[in-house]
Amino acid sequence: MLHHERLRPPSRDYPADEWNIIEKAFNPEFMAQLETMLAVGNGYLGIRGCPEEGGPSAENGTFINGFYETRPIVYGEEAYGFAKTAQTICNVTDSKIIRLFVDDEPFWLSNAHLLNYDRRLNMKSGTLDREILWETPSGKQVSIMSRRLVSFANKHVTAISYCVTLLNAQAPVVISSEMRANEVSARDNEEDPRLPKAFSGRTLHPRMSYSKDRRIVLCHATEKSRFTVTCATDNALESISAYSCNVVHAADVGQAIFTIEAQQGCPIQLTKYIVYHTSQTVSAEELCGRAEWTLNRVMAQGFQSLLASQEQYMDDFWRRSDVQVKDIREERVKRSTVEIQQAIRFNLFHILQASSRAEETGVPAKGLTGKAYEGHYFWDTEIYLLPFLTYTSPGIARNLLAFRYKMLPQARARAKELGHRGALFPWRTINGEEASAYYAAGTAQYHINADIMYALRKYVRATGDEALLRDWGAEMLVETARLWLDLGFYSGTKGGKFCINGVTGPDEYKTVVNNNAYTNLMARENMRYAAQVVESLRATEPDVYDTLVRKTKLESSETKEWIRAAQNMYVPYDERLNIIPQDDSFLDKEPWDFRNTPADHYPLLLFYHPLEIYRKRVIKQADVILAMFLLGDAFSAEAKKRNFDFYDPLTTGDSSLSSCVEAIIAAETGDLDKAFRYGTAALLMDLADVGGNVKDGCHIASMGGTWMMLTYGFGGMQDNDGTLSFRPRRAPEANGILRFPIAYRGQLLEIEISRDKVQYGLREGERLVIRHEMEEIELTRENPAAVRSVSKDED
Ligand code: BGC
Repeated sequence: MLHHERLRPPSRDYPADEWNIIEKAFNPEFMAQLETMLAVGNGYLGIRGCPEEGGPSAENGTFINGFYETRPIVYGEEAYGFAKTAQTICNVTDSKIIRLFVDDEPFWLSNAHLLNYDRRLNMKSGTLDREILWETPSGKQVSIMSRRLVSFANKHVTAISYCVTLLNAQAPVVISSEMRANEVSARDNEEDPRLPKAFSGRTLHPRMSYSKDRRIVLCHATEKSRFTVTCATDNALESISAYSCNVVHAADVGQAIFTIEAQQGCPIQLTKYIVYHTSQTVSAEELCGRAEWTLNRVMAQGFQSLLASQEQYMDDFWRRSDVQVKDIREERVKRSTVEIQQAIRFNLFHILQASSRAEETGVPAKGLTGKAYEGHYFWDTEIYLLPFLTYTSPGIARNLLAFRYKMLPQARARAKELGHRGALFPWRTINGEEASAYYAAGTAQYHINADIMYALRKYVRATGDEALLRDWGAEMLVETARLWLDLGFYSGTKGGKFCINGVTGPDEYKTVVNNNAYTNLMARENMRYAAQVVESLRATEPDVYDTLVRKTKLESSETKEWIRAAQNMYVPYDERLNIIPQDDSFLDKEPWDFRNTPADHYPLLLFYHPLEIYRKRVIKQADVILAMFLLGDAFSAEAKKRNFDFYDPLTTGDSSLSSCVEAIIAAETGDLDKAFRYGTAALLMDLADVGGNVKDGCHIASMGGTWMMLTYGFGGMQDNDGTLSFRPRRAPEANGILRFPIAYRGQLLEIEISRDKVQYGLREGERLVIRHEMEEIELTRENPAAVRSVSKDED
């Protein structure tokens, strides 16, 4: 259902551009959204797109992935096994501040007289660039050009180039390069269940602060989680005008103040180098030392070299990941090709910014662009992000899976606490422990276990990285399969079938239900795959198998039990409607009165008591529809259509995780109009603020979902049976071109789909066998290309 399209078109102030997100005027009413959209980050560190001057801003956030503070979760009524401790990502030291005074007049965007304003997220160079022409109250024209980057190549490093030139006069200029910790955001007390509660008092406690020449180092620690963060800055100024510099620091503040007798036409170039180091184990002294070493190294390199490596990184990323479109029919999507191209790149770029250096962490639901959902990691990573990463940056995908393995001890402990065998991964977490304060839409989402294993299987198949299974993947498979076997039971009332009761599926508008179809189907895959991997290790790698047995105390009968449960898995079916009921009670529910639900009452969760939502037939996000996409082989084309027709009108899309999946199944079932409408909503989720909450951060899962929509949905890609196959379908009258690369087992394939033909090209690698429709095609270094015709919509 697409009931509230808020797809704001681009305008004069926000013109479309294929490689940049451009802002041509400072509009305070869009400030919060732009802070999110123009955030820069590298998966370790993220800085919202607030101006250098330290404001104006809605939420001036600087986040480090996995850097959190804890507090007890307070329940009105406690119960056994409830999650005990909240984990909330912290806003760390703001280091980007560069304040400017000309003739003692402060430059402050909201009251400055601007003769020119241009800010752009440059997705080719991986920088946030700004060009401003400011006229001071006394008529002096000041050019301010800045470039901000968070380095991909240097995980801990960010840098700002800030250049001020007086164009028509000379004047005394002050540039104050600052750092501030523990600043309070104006939005800290907003009421929205998706936003974290603010900590009362300071979260960062001073440990050390010192300066050396123009270098300032501030070190803080959290009280309960015992994290330490060091932020160190150094400032290089180039100017032919005379200047002096004064450096001051205190526990929470550092300032390098340059006082310059600025000459007309002579640029004053400040380069600010910034380094963050964090740790839960090393001392403050050690961490400050590390930050200084990193600073020494990057200062020796210089800004141009940082920029060059950033551009190189981006080139490499786009070579592997760029999805290109040409000649899209505007009336279909109500957007020009340039706008669509811009939105595609915006989504992919933000995924990179959220995940690239997430080396010992997960990816927060908002990346590092906002603190909504508290910086927690959800199934969003495995189901929505990992497909893109697996097929374009498999190294990042592996890191994220390895991070899940690191949480296996906590997952084992959590399963035990809840009375289960095996391991139960947390629904939401930073440190591996369950942090969901509402078990019904949290812990009860056991499907997280199967989601992680689904992503692992996809990764192994796409990369051929069997070592991962031997080293630790099999261990995860054993523990997750055990959990399912323990959780479910053979039910007499369901013909002796294997049932899983009392869980919540992806749709959070139905909680603690019996036999959620998605969960049962995904658990079935989990157990099957676990049995297959374990049996194959037993047959071919006895040493590895013995180690696995030792680590997991695996008994030889267990795989048979998993297979028996998988074979007997209960999958609900309604003969009357010929569909899969979402769960045992779904079809008994009273229909939701959509007709009398005002358009401004979505998302429903903000306007109706959960009981009202739970007792009615209304869905937050794709659930059975998602299962039909993920497990495409298990459903016939007719079944997909019937189920889609039934569920689509009930699905509010109140979660941003929905539209992309609806688009895929709509495309697969031939409803191209719907596919385009959902697809556009998913694509523009953040750029057009479809859900109205972009101010709180980007919807990283939906961003990953847009890639799936383009490749699986419109590109007709399928990878369920272990061979990469394509069944691209085009509307008969469309002229557009869709082109995307796919990394597969160390090789790079490029697919280009046009009106009536599809071209496959092996760009890198020796030999790759793929399938087009039912035909196998072999691509080799000698014969790297193949052209086939595309099925028409009505075929
Ligand atoms: C969705 C979940 C999702 C979470 C974080 C919720 O609104 O219902 O499926 O994991 O947001 O993105």
